[in-house]
Amino acid sequence: MTNAKTTSSNVSRSSRVKGGGKASLEPCACCGIAPDSRGRPFSITFEQPDVIDQIHPQLLDTWGGDPFLAIKAVGFFIRVILPVKLSDGFAVDFGTWIEIDNDDFRAAWQSWNFPEYKDLAIEGYVANQIAPFDKFPHTLVKATVREPEQVPYLTSSDNEVFTKLLTETWPHASVLAPYADLLKSEPPLED
Ligand SMILES: [Zn+2]
Repeated sequence: MTNAKTTSSNVSRSSRVKGGGKASLEPCACCGIAPDSRGRPFSITFEQPDVIDQIHPQLLDTWGGDPFLAIKAVGFFIRVILPVKLSDGFAVDFGTWIEIDNDDFRAAWQSWNFPEYKDLAIEGYVANQIAPFDKFPHTLVKATVREPEQVPYLTSSDNEVFTKLLTETWPHASVLAPYADLLKSEPPLED
């Protein structure tokens, strides 16, 4: 008995959370963006560390992918979430990367699917420039685990710029402006 469908490569184990769709809340009068229907932060995700764009493709030698990425002769990167509180009930979780040292990379990789993951605490350098914020200082930021099913969250830093970013409430319109097209887009009317 043959059944081509069962051997299709277009199959994965990833789960599918119900997201997307037209927002059920009215768009904000100032910026036209509607808050998430269930009050969750927006997710805006940087697919890879910025440094990848600066490496000639022929010289790019990587191990892993997302959430663990090692780039030969460059460094070790892990996916994290940068949570930013915004005015008027908005919030955004930036999916970003930090560069960490090899020992922490290995420790994170080893604990990732085990109970000790909840105690993981690592420090690294944010590896994306995130608009509309000014260029980040090259300084350590701490990442810890909030939920076992989530990648680590950036939680604190000795640096004033990151402390402000992580603790203050930012004006939602200016922070979301670079991503307005992403957050407001509707399905095409024709193909
Ligand atoms: Zn607004």
